[in-house]
Amino acid sequence: MNLIPLPAFSDNYLWLWHEGQSAVVVDPGDAGPVREALLQRQLKLVAILVTHHHADHVGGVAELREATGAQVYGPAAEAIPEPFQPCQQGDTFELLGQTVQVLDIPGHTAGHVAYHLPNAPDGPVLFCGDTLFSGGCGRVFEGTPAQMLASLDALASLPGDTRVCCAHEYTLSNLKFAQAVEPDNTDLADYTAHCVNLRARNEPTLPARLARELAINPFLRVRAPAVMAAARRREPQAHDAVAVFATLRQWKNDFR
Ligand code: ZN
Ligand code: FE
Repeated sequence: MNLIPLPAFSDNYLWLWHEGQSAVVVDPGDAGPVREALLQRQLKLVAILVTHHHADHVGGVAELREATGAQVYGPAAEAIPEPFQPCQQGDTFELLGQTVQVLDIPGHTAGHVAYHLPNAPDGPVLFCGDTLFSGGCGRVFEGTPAQMLASLDALASLPGDTRVCCAHEYTLSNLKFAQAVEPDNTDLADYTAHCVNLRARNEPTLPARLARELAINPFLRVRAPAVMAAARRREPQAHDAVAVFATLRQWKNDFR
């Protein structure tokens, strides 16, 4: 299974998944880099997966559908460029010989979905849009902190060898925040050094491994004693996991 992050805009990745002559793209905010990659590799686009309605994820959908006839899949509860196959929790379909499972992960947007490939050849793959990032998570725009935490918890329960394909290269700034939360986390220090090296060579830090995210991502660690303690130093009333999550999210919004 070939999995390629196509850089777009300043920090987006449009994930291109291809097998033989056929390709799928996830969240094509811009048609340009996708058309170029298809041409270069002589691929036919058969499907477009959309995780949520933001412009940097759907901006190229209409042009790509028109140019290729690709079938569009998108969140049932969101307005994305019609026509598309509406997807929600529990739906499964086959693409390029793989089973794709749909997960509802609201919070960043109200109808945000993820696409999970549980049986992909080199380990499961997750396309999670702007919900989970390496070392961080998306902003809570349309949902509540409780919804966002439930969505992150659902993703965290996937197999540890899952390759997490996030829609933005936010890793280094996320890790800077993560280190402010957990300065004594040695896995976090090691992973940060690794990612600094990758970015120095202009290489993507993604896909991320889910097992590592569980060890370093504060938003997946809201029940870890060190993370709870850090949140409570900022907000003494952060008693439960949702309050710890909400405190971290607000802290990250203000963090420079
Ligand atoms: Zn977004
Ligand atoms: Fe985005």
